[in-house]
Amino acid sequence: MSTKILIVEDEEEIAELEKDYLEVSDYEVTIENDGKKGLERAMSDEYALIILDLMLPGVDGYEICKNIRQEKNIPIIMVSAKKDDIDKIRGLGLGADDYLTKPFSPSELVARVKAHLSRYDRLVGTHMKENDVVEIRGIKIDKTARRVYVNGEEKTFTTKEFDLLTFLAENPNHVFSKDELFRKIWDMESVGDIATVTVHIKKIREKIEYDTSKPQYIETIWGVGYRFKV
Ligand code: CA
Repeated sequence: MSTKILIVEDEEEIAELEKDYLEVSDYEVTIENDGKKGLERAMSDEYALIILDLMLPGVDGYEICKNIRQEKNIPIIMVSAKKDDIDKIRGLGLGADDYLTKPFSPSELVARVKAHLSRYDRLVGTHMKENDVVEIRGIKIDKTARRVYVNGEEKTFTTKEFDLLTFLAENPNHVFSKDELFRKIWDMESVGDIATVTVHIKKIREKIEYDTSKPQYIETIWGVGYRFKV
């Protein structure tokens, strides 16, 4: 997936030039020439970085920067034709990450874009969310990575086996009928019937149970269905 960059710039030739240079470096670039539209786009779409001109029709760069900062911490590079304005906004502490005075060389801009993106990646990388894990006795289900470990050893599960096991483990001590499980895990349109559930439970047990004739995790409640025992 390519990295998306938004340019908010009313001077079309400058915007196009920036876009060309960034595209050569494989960035996916969107241009808005109007401040109001630029702000809307910045707020509604996901961009990795924003290049923001200061003087814009509609809403100016100050306002846009302030608004983006209330919601997002992506890098913002502000550009202006006036050195004085750059000094002024620096002083205001609007939260832009970098400032460039026009005219600047497009390759200088690309270099800064790269530097800010990698700095941001490192920053976000260190605060990465931990995986969503369900752990019950010896079984660890990593929902994010879709992996299952039984007493520390990884076992391979098909998509439906994984979904079924996860659903039962997330609703422990609750008895579900085969019918309920079939409706929960399989699409309504899917071919098959509740016997599919029985087959999948058998496969899951072979992977998680020490002795499948005496299940310690997924219990059969005769005439009703199954329950994940805690
Ligand atoms: Ca301008």
